[in-house]
Amino acid sequence: MNPKNEGGAAATTLRLTAARPEDVAHAAALLRAGELVAMPTETVYGLAANALDPHAVASIFTAKRRPPDNPLIVHIAAPEDIAPLVAAYPPAAQKLAAAFWPGPLTVILPKSALVPDLVSAGLPTVALRIPAHPAARALLRAAGVPLAAPSANRSGSPSPTTAAHVLADLDGRLSAILDGGECSVGVESTVVTLAEGPPCLLRPGGIPPEALRAVLGELAVSPAVTHALQAGETAQSPGMKYKHYAPQAELTLLTGSREAFVTYLKAHACAEDGVLCFDEDFDGLWRRFSYGSVDDPAAQAQQLFARLRELDAQGLTRVFCHTPRQEGVGLAVYNRLLRAAGFRELAVDEAAPAPQKT
Ligand code: AMP
Ligand code: MG
Repeated sequence: MNPKNEGGAAATTLRLTAARPEDVAHAAALLRAGELVAMPTETVYGLAANALDPHAVASIFTAKRRPPDNPLIVHIAAPEDIAPLVAAYPPAAQKLAAAFWPGPLTVILPKSALVPDLVSAGLPTVALRIPAHPAARALLRAAGVPLAAPSANRSGSPSPTTAAHVLADLDGRLSAILDGGECSVGVESTVVTLAEGPPCLLRPGGIPPEALRAVLGELAVSPAVTHALQAGETAQSPGMKYKHYAPQAELTLLTGSREAFVTYLKAHACAEDGVLCFDEDFDGLWRRFSYGSVDDPAAQAQQLFARLRELDAQGLTRVFCHTPRQEGVGLAVYNRLLRAAGFRELAVDEAAPAPQKT
């Protein structure tokens, strides 16, 4: 049974458990047979298919309703799987592999002819990652093939960090899901290109830029990380041109101190509005969704997508978010929130009242 067709009777998605070796073996057999399986990784759940089978890869795009010009990340089990997939494996890539794999880092390199054009969306490059999650590693080893796996959400909605999120978006559109619990990192992998010119960060993620610089020396940052693409500009990473991670609610980022944030809300928000804030921000009038401590970007990353899904489940139409700091993995949190907000960001500090004289 392959449930990837549009329309028709709803097919069922088999629930498998990552802790059971026989379930991992079953998932691997489905992948070898060209089916789609959602797998847990430390970043977010991935919608996996055999990367070397163009039919299987095509069904990823159908299931997610992903635009065909947005290429896929290829997941591999071990460093020895890299050579057949690339046309070059430069020293910088070897350094990154040694320092960060297995882990939440994706490296873009010139691709070999073995990688189907569908995977790279016609680009001459391939995005590679060795994930760290034990279930993803076990599945890759058992499948014995590289797995193309974008995030297992419906294209445009927040990435899934639990099996329930995957099923909410895609139930019946994939053969099985391997449930490995909640993802520990919570935002997608960091994407770095080494395909041409000096190393460049295309997408911030689980590995912070500071850590990459410590290994690489230099690292450019694509302007698309923190700015909207201008008309006529080409995206180095095609995924960056799409509105992403978007909740249904209109989201606005408010950048400034806790006091300025609350002052703005008092002046502009009403009781029906949602507020996405830090644990220590306040206990106020509005519908409050906390996404971690202000000083803990890792906790913010881990909780962000679940909170965005909760906002939608509540049917909120307007949400104000206290902007995170852009340090460490906080840059990834900021990048996802900016896209979720369609780049609507207001500096609120100047609106803060002058301190009262006593
Ligand atoms: P996802 O797996 O859904 O989180 O998305 C993968 C991200 O990696 C998207 O932003 C893609 O545009 C990007 N990506 C994948 N392959 C390439 C490539 N060959 N060159 C540039 N970006 C890529
Ligand atoms: Mg995605």
